[in-house]
Amino acid sequence: MRKIEHIGIAVKDLEKANSLYTALLNTEPYKTEKVASEGVSTSFFRMGDSKIELLEATSEDSAIAKFIEKRGEGIHHIAYDVEDIRAEMARLEGEGFQLLNTEPKKGADNKLVCFLHPKSSGGVLVELCQEITSEEN
Ligand code: ZN
Repeated sequence: MRKIEHIGIAVKDLEKANSLYTALLNTEPYKTEKVASEGVSTSFFRMGDSKIELLEATSEDSAIAKFIEKRGEGIHHIAYDVEDIRAEMARLEGEGFQLLNTEPKKGADNKLVCFLHPKSSGGVLVELCQEITSEEN
């Protein structure tokens, strides 16, 4: 793990949340992106090395819709930047963490991602992410 790549925040209304976060952080989102496979729309804000990802559900059965239904809006996951996601997945599995996907998948913001079940990681949903380089496209 190299650093916290971003913090993911579940929101009900991405447009409203974008205005709120633009006012809060005093910067506009640098990217908005739909991730159809996850049933979410996302937007990303950057402050120096740190990023905030806002996530809005685009379908009722998306994980974000379920999260908001259960716990309301708020912090959804912490994403850690890793150099080699497959190596980290193997290491963490060996440490007893429960991976939510067995293969890295394509996430938002040009990343390969894997999630850890919050039950195995102290109640916090953990995302591993590795920047996709050209040879992996
Ligand atoms: Zn994320």
